[in-house]
Amino acid sequence: MSPKITKTDEEWRAELSPQEFHVLRESGTERAYTGEYWDSHEEGVYACRACGAELFTSREKFDSHCGWPSFFAPLAGESVRYLEDVTMGMKRIEVRCATCDSHLGHVFEGEGYPTPTDQRYCINSVSLTLRPKALDS
Ligand SMILES: [Zn+2]
Repeated sequence: MSPKITKTDEEWRAELSPQEFHVLRESGTERAYTGEYWDSHEEGVYACRACGAELFTSREKFDSHCGWPSFFAPLAGESVRYLEDVTMGMKRIEVRCATCDSHLGHVFEGEGYPTPTDQRYCINSVSLTLRPKALDS
């Protein structure tokens, strides 16, 4: 499936801050414990900072203490896509926004977190925008 939003690097650069561009478009990683959402408990929906697609909610967010916002599931299966990432000498699964193909973070599995899925979507704060709102429980 190809992304629904495609822009050139120049277009992205004009819209994003240098750090946002680096993480979202060059698969960068913000430093642990520096992002604005790793310790956020505010209720709401986390949208892609590049295109605004809704990706995660506070309902699936959990305290992983890893220094990045962590979710045990995406808002919907089709909102993200997965790529095998073998950089850094590790085999990891990269998570990207399915709408604009921007880098979000990685997903790890089987780490023993007490969550329904035992998955940890380890996402850069800079890839997300929190839209505060009350969620139906
Ligand atoms: Zn996006």
